[in-house]
Amino acid sequence: MINFEDTETAFATKSNAQLRKAYYMFKMVANQSLVSLGKMATSIANTLGLPIKSLVKKTVYEQFVGGENIDECEKIIELLANYNVKSLLDYSVEGKETEQDFEHTKNRLIDTIRFGGKHEAVPFAVFKVTGLARFALLEKVSKGELLSEKETKEWLKAKGRVKEICQQAHENKLAVLIDAEESWIQQAIDDLAEEMIRHYNRERVIVFNTLQMYRVDRLGYLKKLVDLANKENFYLGVKLVRGAYMEKERARARQMGYPSPIQPDKESSDRDFDAGVEYVVENLEKGRLVAGSHNQESCRKLVDLMKNNNIEPSDHRIWFSQLYGMSDHLSFNLAKAGYNVVKYLPFGPVKDTLPYLIRRAEENTSASGQTSRELLLIQKEMRRRGID
Ligand SMILES: Cc1cc2nc3c(=O)[nH]c(=O)nc-3n(C[C@H](O)[C@H](O)[C@H](O)COP(=O)(O)OP(=O)(O)OC[C@H]3O[C@@H](n4cnc5c(N)ncnc54)[C@H](O)[C@@H]3O)c2cc1C
Repeated sequence: MINFEDTETAFATKSNAQLRKAYYMFKMVANQSLVSLGKMATSIANTLGLPIKSLVKKTVYEQFVGGENIDECEKIIELLANYNVKSLLDYSVEGKETEQDFEHTKNRLIDTIRFGGKHEAVPFAVFKVTGLARFALLEKVSKGELLSEKETKEWLKAKGRVKEICQQAHENKLAVLIDAEESWIQQAIDDLAEEMIRHYNRERVIVFNTLQMYRVDRLGYLKKLVDLANKENFYLGVKLVRGAYMEKERARARQMGYPSPIQPDKESSDRDFDAGVEYVVENLEKGRLVAGSHNQESCRKLVDLMKNNNIEPSDHRIWFSQLYGMSDHLSFNLAKAGYNVVKYLPFGPVKDTLPYLIRRAEENTSASGQTSRELLLIQKEMRRRGID
């Protein structure tokens, strides 16, 4: 039986000073109005060029990001690997829109793949298609609209970048996860991911698509993909998550007057997430799973499912995944019990990682429930160490 309350294991990598700092950081972001204020201050500071960088760097950035570049992440990768927790380098620069930016991002992603190819502690790479293609173009492709000649060229270039990344992953024998994004651009992402999966997942799993189970249609899509994998004889890599854009999705659906693609309530998202996990585990002949979740109940269920099906904890077909700086009680206790665990380790310049950091801060306000969980665990460990 895994003890997720074992805070000694959960925070083994943290010194007393680091633990105290994490405590104050989570206390700060627990305050929703402070987060909104921080968001506003950050965007003003960005436009005006005020030196907010060091403040951000010393707080949320240090908690959730590995460093400005791959070299700066190496220490953390080694530290986590000492506890059998693997890392996945996530180049977290978002919101770029020019061809030059996309090429730059592609090159950084290829760096992460080459690095992963040489380091056992880095078994995956990851990317977002919006880091390689214009959002509006992805929306147009998703709608099936006719592209102009210029757009067709642009789309071919974007596809070329995705292909180049997957090819690099293939050559380096490294698995690559394609993150899921907003539903109105996801069709283009799914089509690209399927094309890459069909091409590269013949001998082993290289490409993983991500399915957001807060969408009402994803369980059906998962079943369709499993059928295809069996029929066409390829390995199906899927990362299952609940989904990160719920409010935005609902607001857009309301505004534009179409039915929301999101589950009516949290219980339905939980139900489909767990059902999806179960479905992949039932289909492990071709299916490969990364369960991306901070939900303790879902992790517990997957552990039980593996036990009941006599699947070894270290079975290479199943991975648990959490984000760096969050839910260490799950990652480190699962890894200690022999399960495969990989942490998303974001990196990038402070300014460019702000959208990622704001998402993390928002997710950790007291309203979301995640902070109280993190805070309680940190407090428990501080008490255990006698430093509270
Ligand atoms: C390793 C990893 C990779 C990730 N990759 C992606 C990705 O590629 N794309 C992406 O979109 N997200 C991604 N996420 C974020 C993820 O989708 C969730 O937002 C986040 O992990 C919180 O969900 P949870 O499973 O950890 O648990 P919980 O905290 O139990 O669940 C919270 C989630 O439940 C859902 N939910 C909450 N309230 C409701 C409601 N009222 N009705 C319906 N559903 C509700 C929402 O999805 C919410 O985020 C990733 C997360 C991790 C850990």
